[in-house]
Formats: sequence, C-alpha cells, structure tokens
Amino acid sequence: MNVLGFNSSEFVQWMGRGIDRTLERTKIKAFVNYLTRRLWNWSRRNSLWPLHWGLMCCSIEMAAAFSPRYDVERFGVLFRSTPRQVDILLVNGPVSHKVAPAVRRLYEQMPEPKWVIAMGECAISGGPYYDSYSVLPGVDNVVPVDVYIPGCPVRPEAMMDAFFKLRDKIKEEKGDMFLQPKE
Ligand code: SF4
Repeated sequence: MNVLGFNSSEFVQWMGRGIDRTLERTKIKAFVNYLTRRLWNWSRRNSLWPLHWGLMCCSIEMAAAFSPRYDVERFGVLFRSTPRQVDILLVNGPVSHKVAPAVRRLYEQMPEPKWVIAMGECAISGGPYYDSYSVLPGVDNVVPVDVYIPGCPVRPEAMMDAFFKLRDKIKEEKGDMFLQPKE
C-alpha cells in the first residue's frame, strides 16, 4: 500500500538503514560483535548445512556420506533443500555454461555467512571435460571456492574431511553477528 508516498518495502529499507546507522555511530554494533563473536563462531562451525542438490556422479558419494555407515549428520552437517536456509554450496559435478547462471543464482540466494566446497575433479577443473566447449574449467569461475576436494570420485571420508577443514577455516574467522556481505 502506498499511502505516504513510499511503499512498505521502501519503509522497511529506510528503517533498516536508520537502525544500522544508529548502531554504527553509537558503537553498539562493535560492542555486540565483541561480546558474542565466539558464540556465533562456535554455532556456525558446528551446524554446517549444505544445499541438497546433485550435479553428477559425485553426488552419489555425497549421499553415501549421509548414510548410516558414515553418518555425517553426527557432526552437525544437515541437508536443506532451499538455498535460503543453507551455509554451504557443495558443487559435486561439472558445471556447464548453461547451468553456471543457475549456480551463481543459488549462491546469491544463500544468506551470509556462506561457503563453497568444490567436490571432485569436475567441479575443480572440469575433470574429463576440461577442454570441452560446454563445461567451465572449474566452478571458481562463477563462485568463490573455500575448500577443494580432489578425487574422481571423491570418497565419503574425503568429503567429511573437507567439512573438518572448513570448520578450521571458520574458526579463524571473526564470527561477527553483524556481517559485511562478501563480493
Ligand atoms: S569428478 Fe568423477 S565422479 Fe565426480 S562428477 Fe566428475 S566424473 Fe563424476
């Protein structure tokens, strides 16, 4: 509804900017970050939720990692089927030029903080299709990658190890409650 000359989403944005500016100027943001960053960091690295999707054969290994034999869920790694509720984009196959815009869109739909894991040779460098006319020479051409898992196929143990590596990486991050979006 547009009663006062601006609609509801503009009003929400205007309010958000005002609150943000006030928090910055009064140093409340910095103070809250300082007090809570350890807690946020701990919770982020112990609840890594990847997007539930598969591109090619490495996704079968990904599924195996969630089976009772490996049970990666005991480390707080859970699939979610919407990019709005995940932290991790696990790219598990070759990214064609046709699917690349969709991969970028999924990444942009994920909330901050977010990380990307390139699983297998195809995601890292194109794999057997490295000189193909239709496949990208690595998913890092469209999204920034945090952890690479070499292998063809990647074993479930290697995938689990990548999550541990990512945990270590997150531990080094500040873990602020108020985040600056990545480029
Ligand atoms: S790296 Fe190997 S197993 Fe994984 S998607 Fe590519 S061809 Fe399949």
